[in-house]
Amino acid sequence: MIDLHSHTLESDGTSTPEELVRAAHHAGLGALAITDHDTLAAHEPAAPLAAQLGIELVRGIEISSKHAGRTIHLLGYFFDGPPPARFTGWLENILEHRRDRNRRLAARLRQLGVDVHVEEAESLGRGLTGRPHFARVIIEKGYARDMREAFDKYIGEYGEAFVEREAPGVVDAIRAVHEAGGVASLAHPVRVAEAESTIAELASAGLQAIEAFHTDQSPAATEMYLGLARKLGLAVSGGSDFHGGNKPGAQIGYCAGGRVVIPDWVLANLRDRC
Ligand code: AMP
Ligand code: ZN
Ligand code: FE
Ligand code: FE
Repeated sequence: MIDLHSHTLESDGTSTPEELVRAAHHAGLGALAITDHDTLAAHEPAAPLAAQLGIELVRGIEISSKHAGRTIHLLGYFFDGPPPARFTGWLENILEHRRDRNRRLAARLRQLGVDVHVEEAESLGRGLTGRPHFARVIIEKGYARDMREAFDKYIGEYGEAFVEREAPGVVDAIRAVHEAGGVASLAHPVRVAEAESTIAELASAGLQAIEAFHTDQSPAATEMYLGLARKLGLAVSGGSDFHGGNKPGAQIGYCAGGRVVIPDWVLANLRDRC
């Protein structure tokens, strides 16, 4: 079994890197990619334990990028060890934009009478603070009943406190992954608007794969993406998008609502693009 999409506490998951590796071992995984949002921080702590337990650790990342005014998540996989310093420098810039967005988000919340400070959200995140951390503070302080309400009312795209974050264009992100020696795959195409034409467009811009297997994609959708990948000469990737308690539907090693095992051939097929 394999899983090429997972998150730790370094972004918005609930497991430490070591806990995630252990959970992957218990699930019977031969290979695990850790793909935290915009950070590589989990790889170093995860690597020794993965080696000890005989799990191949694939260094991955999930980059939030923009395309045609919308957010697109791009997965990057580095099969030959950590990406070069140039790439980490490029990421640092993205993290700075996130910190800036977080400060503006907290200010906007306080304008609306929601007494939330950026430090409170940051104390829940580790390498990276995201809106799910803000949501937890909002809930703990009684301004919303649950995640859903926190996003709908305040910090979601249509919430009153929503503020934009500067992010790289998806084509720049694809280029950055390539230049760092990685393979770029489009995450959860089910969430991409006009997926077919967008994927064709990104394929000509250097995209190498699409995530055909994902928790939020049905077996029928997976078949459709496999066909599309074949037609466009793309490889495919697959992962659960495990976030621990922050995404209860995702199970390590499984896709399609936790019902289908992610096939092992996906990894070999992806590595061939490297
Ligand atoms: P950020 O990268 O800080 O802007 O936060 C994005 C994360 O917030 C996503 O990866 C989701 O986990 C979460 N998120 C975004 N929109 C919603 C929503 N409407 N409801 C629940 N979680 C959401
Ligand atoms: Zn996430
Ligand atoms: Fe994502
Ligand atoms: Fe993810």
